[in-house]
Amino acid sequence: MKQTSFLFLLLIFTSFCFSQSHVPYDILIKNGKVIDGTGNSWYYADVAIQADKIILIQKNINAAATKVIDAKGLVVAPGFIDVHTHLEGGEAKTPTADNFIYDGVTTVITGNCGASNADIGKYLLWIDSLHLSVNVASLIGHNDVRKEVMGRANRNATEAELNKMELLVDKAMKNGAVGFSTGLIYIPGTYSKTPELIRLAKIAAKYNGLYATHMRDEGDSVTQAIEEALTIGRQANIPIQISHFKLSGQQNWGRSGQTLPMIIAARKEGLDVTIDQYPYTASSTSLSTLLPDEVLADGQDSIVARLNRPEIQKDVTAYIIKKLKNRKLKHLGFAVVAYYKADTTLNGKSIEAINLIKGRKHKASDESVTVMEMMMQGGASMIFHGMSEPDVKNIMQYDYNMFASDAGIREFGVGSPHPRGYGTNARVLGKYVREENIIDLEEAIRRMTSLPAQKFQLKNIGLLKEGMNADIVIFNATEVMDKSTFEQPHQFAQGFIFVLVNGKLTIENAKHTGTKAGKAQYGPGYILQ
Ligand SMILES: [Zn+2]
Repeated sequence: MKQTSFLFLLLIFTSFCFSQSHVPYDILIKNGKVIDGTGNSWYYADVAIQADKIILIQKNINAAATKVIDAKGLVVAPGFIDVHTHLEGGEAKTPTADNFIYDGVTTVITGNCGASNADIGKYLLWIDSLHLSVNVASLIGHNDVRKEVMGRANRNATEAELNKMELLVDKAMKNGAVGFSTGLIYIPGTYSKTPELIRLAKIAAKYNGLYATHMRDEGDSVTQAIEEALTIGRQANIPIQISHFKLSGQQNWGRSGQTLPMIIAARKEGLDVTIDQYPYTASSTSLSTLLPDEVLADGQDSIVARLNRPEIQKDVTAYIIKKLKNRKLKHLGFAVVAYYKADTTLNGKSIEAINLIKGRKHKASDESVTVMEMMMQGGASMIFHGMSEPDVKNIMQYDYNMFASDAGIREFGVGSPHPRGYGTNARVLGKYVREENIIDLEEAIRRMTSLPAQKFQLKNIGLLKEGMNADIVIFNATEVMDKSTFEQPHQFAQGFIFVLVNGKLTIENAKHTGTKAGKAQYGPGYILQ
């Protein structure tokens, strides 16, 4: 290289460095109460952001900035990480992910409950090409892996099938999945036994992923289900995340006093097990969960064929009545339709009410006929009112419990979905922190930020520290509140005044700006490959 051109390059380099230090900050957040996500107490500081990074946090930063946000009287915290979501299918319809953004969520983990995109590499690339308002990481779902290899068959996998499933999990982990998820009440996951799950969890463990599970049972057999999750963690040497930890059915109320100690004991033993929860006393899942597993094998045509047989109808009716008796109930009033494609006028109504609308008798046996009829017409998504508030609060007070919505991207105004998709974090901060003092504000924020970031190995988010990604929420702690209810679910949470995703203002003055600065997040195996 000639000396002149070398000097020229040197000049460009030094002027670049010089200009960097004198460029005003992109965003300067002034006068806020910083809660950094560690669980430490709030403190007053300013936060300076350049591009997608937090550059400086200190008191009284007096520098120029392209945009100055006055956060006086507001809390400044890391963006919330929702570790349990179901984005699949909603990404392209509503890439602005308004329900999450208005609830302070800047990163979601999808692919939960065994249900993910089967090709994680393709999925994450697609997420980046789509541009969402939130960051997205994904688990690889057992049900989709099993479906790919053996359809909806109700039997054990052969060794050859197990090998194929292992290869699919291996590929997904290399392509950036953060771990392996199961949904053991769903088809076909429910047909698998523990050894199959250990084999597949071992593959995720090889790439430092975790095991997230919707357990085989959250009611009468919950302790056995927890034991199975712990066994998988122990045998596969993998961190465990138990999803939407709860006690379903009136007969099980109060048993969090029994299930939480199992988690605490397992941690003492050295198992890295943590849990998450949505702060509501109703769950939401498919109508099919009311039916016996064996009716549901091999797809919709087979389900219809089975449900047309009188002897199967009898079995299903007996099964539903038995389950009701266990719950000490006489009717399916606790089961409310969220979305029924075949007849949307029934959305928001209970099975008990729908049964009467259909002109049948006010009897559980008739209600079971209504359930079967709806299943034959494609099934429905449901809300089940079945938990107790004391259990919800007891679980909430466990130190290693995270808050997660178990929701997808909501299509505004469509169906009667569970309100958790709109208000999970706002509800914790409003109802349980401010109004009922169940946990402290700093502690709630820790469970929404650094705890999930640590568990899911999202290294650049979850803390308000210099050098971290600028995913930030600025909210009014005296006003933050969920607005979504079971009766009127389509209402955004209130109180989040500014939300930044990767340094870009996504909520400004409490309004979504339409900004879509979210990125796909890759798991530890992506780097290890
Ligand atoms: Zn689930």
